[in-house]
Amino acid sequence: MRTPVIAANWKMNLTIDEAVTLAQKITTSTADIADKEIILFPSFLQIPAVSDIIKNTNIGLGGQNVYFEGIGAYTGEIAGYQLKDAGCTHVLIGHSERRHYFHEDYETVNKKILQALACNLKVMLCVGESLEERENGVTEMVVVDELESAFQDVGINKLQELYIAYEPIWAIGTGKTATPKDANHVHKIIRKTLTRIFNEEAAGQMRILYGGSVKPDNIKSLMQQEDIDGALVGGASLLLESFLSLVNYNR
Ligand code: PEP
Repeated sequence: MRTPVIAANWKMNLTIDEAVTLAQKITTSTADIADKEIILFPSFLQIPAVSDIIKNTNIGLGGQNVYFEGIGAYTGEIAGYQLKDAGCTHVLIGHSERRHYFHEDYETVNKKILQALACNLKVMLCVGESLEERENGVTEMVVVDELESAFQDVGINKLQELYIAYEPIWAIGTGKTATPKDANHVHKIIRKTLTRIFNEEAAGQMRILYGGSVKPDNIKSLMQQEDIDGALVGGASLLLESFLSLVNYNR
């Protein structure tokens, strides 16, 4: 059994006060939820304050990015050990907004994963195709390439520390979602690829989340799919009510 994961990517939104208020309300309202894993990805400046709020809960806390070098003269970057020091348990790597706006290539994503794991952070790797790639019928190729390059030199002993978020780029923040069946099809390809890269047992245990305009009215049908183990949510995670209905999709 894979415990479902509902993860909130707050991106570059909210003031520290707003993040604190939202995190406090999420913490109180989800105190009795034991059948899901909840992870919050606030912006860097909000992490220490959110960390104070969620400590002594089961809520995970992650950075939205990390640099691939360990320490030193890299002005403007954030190191894995600093995320850990600020209370993070997780980090998001390879989000399509990082790959596209900040030109993060396969090698960069791989180096970031290796660095994050070395710092004992759990990694949520985002993969997914663009609209053009989907229309050209190369979704599978893109996703397989992203997985193979990202996990180069990642040891099998690290697998419990990895999550995958399948996020078709054309569905992020657009209001368009992959149909549950289409999304599940890609999730199956991802699991098959993980089986090839690692092994069947490990791949069977890894959580593969779907992301891309997940909302209270579509989460249930997505989560009913065999290989969809959770949701990575942007827009709908910024409002308490909608985030709570996502967390409570099966209640
Ligand atoms: C995301 O950015 O990870 C995301 C899925 O965003 P949204 O839910 O807004 O599409």
